[in-house]
Amino acid sequence: MEIKTQEISLPLLKEKEIKLFIKRTDQTHQHISGNKWYKLKYNLIEAKKQGFKTLLTFGGAYSNHIAATACAAKENGLKSVGVIRGEEYFLLNPTLQFAKDNRMLLRYVSRSDYREKTTPDFLEQLKVKFGDFYLIPEGGTNELAIQGTAEILDANDTQDYICCPVGTGGTIAGSINTSTDKQTVIGFPAIKGFYELKKDIESWTKKKNWKLVNDNFSGGYAKVNKELIDFINSFYKEQQIPLDAVYTGKMMLGILDLITKDYFPKGSSILAIHTGGLQGNKGMSKRLGVILPIS
Ligand SMILES: *Cc1c(COP(=O)(O)O)cnc(C)c1O
Repeated sequence: MEIKTQEISLPLLKEKEIKLFIKRTDQTHQHISGNKWYKLKYNLIEAKKQGFKTLLTFGGAYSNHIAATACAAKENGLKSVGVIRGEEYFLLNPTLQFAKDNRMLLRYVSRSDYREKTTPDFLEQLKVKFGDFYLIPEGGTNELAIQGTAEILDANDTQDYICCPVGTGGTIAGSINTSTDKQTVIGFPAIKGFYELKKDIESWTKKKNWKLVNDNFSGGYAKVNKELIDFINSFYKEQQIPLDAVYTGKMMLGILDLITKDYFPKGSSILAIHTGGLQGNKGMSKRLGVILPIS
């Protein structure tokens, strides 16, 4: 698939003599967007090869992975079940409404049950209820997902630094595996603790040319402040590139922060991976009563 890379133009970049590009994997597919498209690719092939009729996966109520899996299952003639953390609300949020519109069956579980979701007992109960299924982990990360995310970068991506938002680490792991030893891959964690993530990523790649930004500028997962919202909106206005509030907006803000602090040597080039996530802006806008780009 041909994915567009755009150069960002900002006075700061000129001043610091840095070239910044963004790879628009958010444009893979209208609904199976960004890194989720790559993570599902080989899992869909495997599920069909093994003769499964149903995909089952887990996620929070605003999960990009839930939305992408629902749509991918439908497009591939498979049924889907989403096990959702938290209680059911009478009015579905935009993510769950989208999943339902794509015929995903939604099963709500309490936060304590959700923590037990991968135990044999819990999975057995799900099998009794929904029949046999192909299991995709929360966030979609497994070996086949990493095989898929390894296809995000290609031989044209020759920048010195590759920047990637990090949830479970599956996307950055695939990208590290494809990067060259001359490149440095930098991850911007949105959810998990730094040390836990580092261990996970180390289990998926043998290479050492990467690091995680251990910084609190993002305020943690789904913590969205006014600075971030304003940044996303002005970035959209100036660059016509929509960013999401959980992953890509925080990463971009983080990259510009590092550039301001002269983290990158003069003359460096940076490629930021736009991992998608824009469907989440709808629910976020509603929940917080703010405006975010929704295209
Ligand atoms: C899911 C998601 C991520 C996190 O990907 P991991 O492979 O879990 O690290 C990053 N960005 C967006 C937009 C996502 O939806």
